[in-house]
Amino acid sequence: MMLRSPQHCAHSSATLISSAQGSCAAAAAAAAVAYEMSYLRVVRAAALAAVSLSLNGVHAASIASISQSTWNSLNKTVGGRLFAAVPFSRPCFQDAVGMVGAFDNTACNAIEENYTNKTFRRNIFGSYMNTEWETCQMTSSQCLLDSNEPTDPLAFTPPRTCNQGSVPSFYIDVNNPNDVAAGFAFSEKTGIPLVVKNTGHDYKGRSSGPNSLALFMHNLQSLTLDKNFKPTGCKNCAGQSAVTMGAGTTFLNLYEFADANNITVPGGADPTVGAAGGYLMGGGHSALSNVFGLFVDRLLEVEVVVPSGQVLIANDHQNTDLFFAIRGGGGGTFGVVISVTTKAFPRMTLPAFKITADILGTSVAAQKTWLTFISSKVVALSKTGWGGYVMPNSGLVYTNPLLNDTAATAEIQEVLDFAVSKFNATVEHIVEQSYLQFYLDFIAPTTVPVGLPFAVTSRLIPVANFATSKSQAELVDAMLPSLTSVPLPILFQVTPLWFTASGADTSGTSVTPAWRNSMWHLTASTSWNFNTTLDERIQIFKNLTANMDILRKATPGGGAYQNEADVYEPDFQRKEFLPATTSICLRDCFIRIILGLKLQQTSSNQEQVRPEAHSRLLAMCWL
Ligand SMILES: Cc1cc2nc3c(=O)[nH]c(=O)nc-3n(C[C@H](O)[C@H](O)[C@H](O)COP(=O)(O)OP(=O)(O)OC[C@H]3O[C@@H](n4cnc5c(N)ncnc54)[C@H](O)[C@@H]3O)c2cc1C
Repeated sequence: MMLRSPQHCAHSSATLISSAQGSCAAAAAAAAVAYEMSYLRVVRAAALAAVSLSLNGVHAASIASISQSTWNSLNKTVGGRLFAAVPFSRPCFQDAVGMVGAFDNTACNAIEENYTNKTFRRNIFGSYMNTEWETCQMTSSQCLLDSNEPTDPLAFTPPRTCNQGSVPSFYIDVNNPNDVAAGFAFSEKTGIPLVVKNTGHDYKGRSSGPNSLALFMHNLQSLTLDKNFKPTGCKNCAGQSAVTMGAGTTFLNLYEFADANNITVPGGADPTVGAAGGYLMGGGHSALSNVFGLFVDRLLEVEVVVPSGQVLIANDHQNTDLFFAIRGGGGGTFGVVISVTTKAFPRMTLPAFKITADILGTSVAAQKTWLTFISSKVVALSKTGWGGYVMPNSGLVYTNPLLNDTAATAEIQEVLDFAVSKFNATVEHIVEQSYLQFYLDFIAPTTVPVGLPFAVTSRLIPVANFATSKSQAELVDAMLPSLTSVPLPILFQVTPLWFTASGADTSGTSVTPAWRNSMWHLTASTSWNFNTTLDERIQIFKNLTANMDILRKATPGGGAYQNEADVYEPDFQRKEFLPATTSICLRDCFIRIILGLKLQQTSSNQEQVRPEAHSRLLAMCWL
């Protein structure tokens, strides 16, 4: 029988992550697992039969051409953990095209209740957090519910049908490195594209892809603390405190583990983003990255399966080119990560401040007033260690791991006073006793929504733009078109400026150099719904890109964070957008491209080709 989460948990991911709602979160997680388990039984039984189904559209040719004995053989190799994949909302649809599964009222109720619940979605393979990546946007092949009202029958009753969209056709529930090697070998032999999926949070759809076989990394959930960690192959290294985590580890689990062990491992803002997957390989920012660097800056070692099937341990002492590539080269590109080891810091006390105001509601001019003021302060604040999130419409969340509460309060007082006097803001101020507590009180309640089609555009804004009051005013004018045209603009104060200025050696990372000289990472995002037309969706993407163009022109030398970049970033081949990995040749001069296409070999004389250029050309579901 299906476990159900309490009714009040259903539509609020924020409530699920507060400690007071722990039982609620547990119930939702249990419901998710129960749903997945029962659903997998159905799926599993039908998995091999599915290959003989007559599939349509982008799913037709190659998957259907694989013989049953080939699938049988793969299934045997991976210990029976090969499954046919179906879109998340499949059980709500009476009619479905070319896929396994069936209408199931009980399962559908659980999906409707948890449609925007990250914890529930995270556990289910066919779910993608930004649901346009469950769809094939180009062909409008989809299987979505109404994000605003998931019980709305218009989304799922005939003539609406459930289509596979961009959800991979099959997946291996990865349990060990051999499963990954089996996936690589299968893909090489058959030509079926291989996709790596962890949590499905990616904004660019890199963890989905039609007509593909996926590696589902979610269940690699180990977490261990070594207080005397020494990188493999290093004889003279001093031991240090480090956490090793499986590829499927998500942030809330990591923070709870760190808290229980009296250590700090700073990480991202969302409880269900994966710490060791795409986040890490794209760079990985946090509220503390100004002082402690990006996640890649703190990586000590990584265990990777490369396309040959070999399991390599990469660090600063062995397989150094692979280590460099993993530290910023992008998820799903150079190999499949099995586990990562990162620095652990002692438990820390964090003076934390939150300003909440209805800035936009006050007047449009008020937003400009706020941005002009905060732009004049941020560089100085960053130099003493401040970081966090500035909300153009509603205030900010700030903390400083370098200052005690008295010093921090004295430094930030001017900002607090300004917000209170100009916008009648309320101020929350707590001296948090750990990163987990800071996270739960200040970050988790305002995290970004999921369970809806969602597009983002962004810009890393160079410090140079803040040099004078004139340049600050020009910057504010250039930011406003992007910030005012979307419901969710954020100025992430997460660039590692203090860390870089402190003399840290960042040469071993391959993130875009723009991270090292930028002050803010600005994102502007918007969403739509299941019934938004193709033309409307195209216009949404175009508007985002066009508004950001104004800021792009005003910020020469800036760049974009690949994990939160515009999928239509213009001139993405330009040097400042490229991870430095594009200029190196891996050991065997082979770069295998995983996403959305048959594995490719890139010979050394083609090494400048950006992996994403391939996926961009071939990702036929992008608009
Ligand atoms: C709500 C939300 C909040 C976010 N907050 C932050 C934040 O605070 N800081 C930040 O820096 N970013 C943040 N991001 C962006 C985040 O970094 C990216 O979405 C990232 O791609 C997520 O990685 P994932 O592994 O969890 O997701 P997935 O979608 O599963 O994977 C993303 C990419 O990584 C690849 N990949 C996953 N696992 C592996 C593996 N084991 N080996 C090789 N490749 C792998 C996939 O193929 C894909 O290319 C946020 C995103 C969302 C949606």
